[in-house]
Amino acid sequence: MATINSNFLKLQKSYLFSTIAQKVSAFKANNPDAQLIRLGIGDVTRPLAPAVIEALHKAVDEQASADTFRGYGPEQGYEFLRQAIIDGDFTPRGINIDLDEVFINDGAKSDTGNFVDILGTDNTICVTDPIYPVYIDTNVMAGRAGNFEEGAWDRIAYSPCNAENNFIPALPTTPVDLIYLCYPNNPTGTTLSRTELKRWVDYALANDAIILYDAAYEAYIQDEETPHSIYEIEGARACAVEFHSFSKTAGFTGLRCGYTIVPKEVTAKAKDGSRVSLNPLWNRRQCTKFNGTPYIVQRAAEAIYSEAGKRQVRETIDYYMTNARLMREALTATGLQVFGGENAPYIWFKTPAGVSSWEFFESLLHEAHIVSTPGAGFGPAGEGYIRLTAFGRREDCEEAMRRLKTWMQQS
Ligand code: PLP
Repeated sequence: MATINSNFLKLQKSYLFSTIAQKVSAFKANNPDAQLIRLGIGDVTRPLAPAVIEALHKAVDEQASADTFRGYGPEQGYEFLRQAIIDGDFTPRGINIDLDEVFINDGAKSDTGNFVDILGTDNTICVTDPIYPVYIDTNVMAGRAGNFEEGAWDRIAYSPCNAENNFIPALPTTPVDLIYLCYPNNPTGTTLSRTELKRWVDYALANDAIILYDAAYEAYIQDEETPHSIYEIEGARACAVEFHSFSKTAGFTGLRCGYTIVPKEVTAKAKDGSRVSLNPLWNRRQCTKFNGTPYIVQRAAEAIYSEAGKRQVRETIDYYMTNARLMREALTATGLQVFGGENAPYIWFKTPAGVSSWEFFESLLHEAHIVSTPGAGFGPAGEGYIRLTAFGRREDCEEAMRRLKTWMQQS
């Protein structure tokens, strides 16, 4: 008889955003006339940059002729895109990355989830809390999380980030092997300074741990000081893998493209005690399980690095960051304690005393017709917080803030 991977039965009933979608659908069914404003899921609303559209058209036309048609591409991604990434994202920051250390993917969700395929199931995990749920769920699937008890997995070390510690996670107090860091952070919208990030790199080097660094939102960093890549920190090439996404950088949530950097120096122990480099192992995994991101999408991603592409993408990011500023100001004016939104497209605020994040989410949905994300959905330390995204249309963000203000005054 066929059996299933019983780790999947340990997963929470549904993925956070599916639960929210169900609640929103139920509300919509009962209130068909309500004008909902969706600031919950982190999906973008601005169209793709003209340079990207132009590259897409051109690549599509190439597929129409036998001379320029492309079938299967390299599993690691085309060289033109990998080189554009190195030249655009790393060389200007003084970071050396080799071509064979760049792996193009169909979005960071796939690789942040899949990367643990090549790591032993006996590794212990550390996450900052609250956190993007994919890191935990994919480790539950792989059997690394243990049991879910009192709102947390017993084999995962949680490092809480909240207003009390200024959203700076403390280093683990128990031994850990794999550390997930995501900066700028989803959901809190906060960042880590160079000094703070260095503490983690030093910890990983001293304790033979690997950092899985998710830089999906690095393009939103506004200040000069905050690191865009973990490789800006000395020693990180020996202990960190970095994930990037074009989803939020350039509106690729529908097109699907991102990349992962796996430096050849990052190693982990084999059973016989020898050190194995993760780079060839990941390459082997990709060659077996992944057949590449579509050619036309990779051409579209390449266009982000053209002069016009860079300018256009920057304009869109500025649009969302203006939303973030307007929302921050409006929420702060209502007396709420607001975080994030300065170097990230997420606003994170505290619910009024005694109100849980799911309660606040429900009230906001039913009474102000605004869809948010309850902080508790991102981990135990997210309880008592709400996340709003700045990815909405300007008029929706402004209307949401007007509604929220009126609603807060009435309640
Ligand atoms: N990493 C973080 C922190 C995210 O918030 C998201 C998407 O919301 C992703 C990765 C996934 O991005 P992609 O669309 O590239 O799969």
